[in-house]
Amino acid sequence: MAELKGKVALVTGAGRGIGFAIADTMAREGADVVIFDLCPEEAGLAAAEQIAQAHGVKAAFYRCDVSSFDTVQETVKAVIKEFGGVDILVNNAGITRDKVLLAMSEQDWDMVLDINLKSMFNTIKACYRNFMKKKSGKIINISSVSGLMGNAAQANYTSAKAGVIGLTKTVARELASRGVNCNAIAPGTIRTPMTENMDQGALQALLSTVPMGKIGEPSDIAECAVFLASDKAKYITGEVIRVDGGIAM
Ligand code: NAP
Repeated sequence: MAELKGKVALVTGAGRGIGFAIADTMAREGADVVIFDLCPEEAGLAAAEQIAQAHGVKAAFYRCDVSSFDTVQETVKAVIKEFGGVDILVNNAGITRDKVLLAMSEQDWDMVLDINLKSMFNTIKACYRNFMKKKSGKIINISSVSGLMGNAAQANYTSAKAGVIGLTKTVARELASRGVNCNAIAPGTIRTPMTENMDQGALQALLSTVPMGKIGEPSDIAECAVFLASDKAKYITGEVIRVDGGIAM
C-alpha cells in the first residue's frame, strides 16, 4: 500500500518494456517518476502522461542517451532541479547485438558495453552526491541471467551484464554506510519488444529450458524492483535477485 509515497524514481529505458512496467508500478506505489529514454519525444511524453493519469503522480520524460557521460550529468542536474532530488535510481536501459564472437564487430562490442554498462557508471556518478546528501537511496541495476551463465552469441551482452553485477556489489560497499542500498535483478526471458524481435525458434528453444515452462512478464520484474525500493528491503544490499522461472538456479 503506497510503499513509495513521497519518493522520486528515475528509471532509464522506461519508454516501453520492463522499464515502463517498473516506472508504472513504482507510480502505483505513490512515487513520482522520471523516464529517461531515447524513444521519440512524442512516445516518451505519452508514456509519462499515461503513468501520471493512471496513478495521480508527477511523471516526466527526458530524452537522454544514457551512454553519453556529459548528457547524463546535465540531464540528472535538470531532474534534481525539477524534482528536488532522486530517491530511487533504476538502471534498466539495455540493448542486444547478438553474433558469435568471430562475427562480432568492434562497434557491436562497444555499443552494447556503452549502453548496458557504462550507462550505469554515468547515472550512478550523476546521482552519487545527491544520495550522499540524503543519506538514503535505492539503486537497482537490471542485469540478466546471461550475465550469470554466459550465452553463445552474446559475448558483448553477457560481459556487460556480468559487469553490472560487479558494479552493483562495489557501489553497495561504497554507499552502505551512507544508507544507500544497491542491488541487481537478473531477469530470465521476459515478454517485451526485446524478445519479440528475437528469432522465434530460438525463443521457443530457450523457453524449453525454463523449469517453470513459460516466459516471464514485465510485471514480474517490476514487483521485484518495487520490493527492493521499499523499506521492506532495507537490510538487503549487494544482492542479485534472479527473476527467471528457475532457469539459472
Ligand atoms: P526493450 O523493450 O528493448 O526496452 C529497452 C528500452 O531502453 C527502450 O525503450 C530503449 O529505447 C531504451 N534505450 C536503449 N538504448 C538507450 C539509450 N542509449 N539511452 C536511453 N534509453 C535507451 O528491452 P526490455 O526487454 O524491456 O529490457 C530492459 C532491460 O532488461 C535491459 O537492460 C535488458 O538487457 C534487460 N533484460 C531483458 C530481458 C528480456 O527477456 N526482455 C532478459 C534479461 C534482461 P528505444 O525506444 O530508443 O530503443
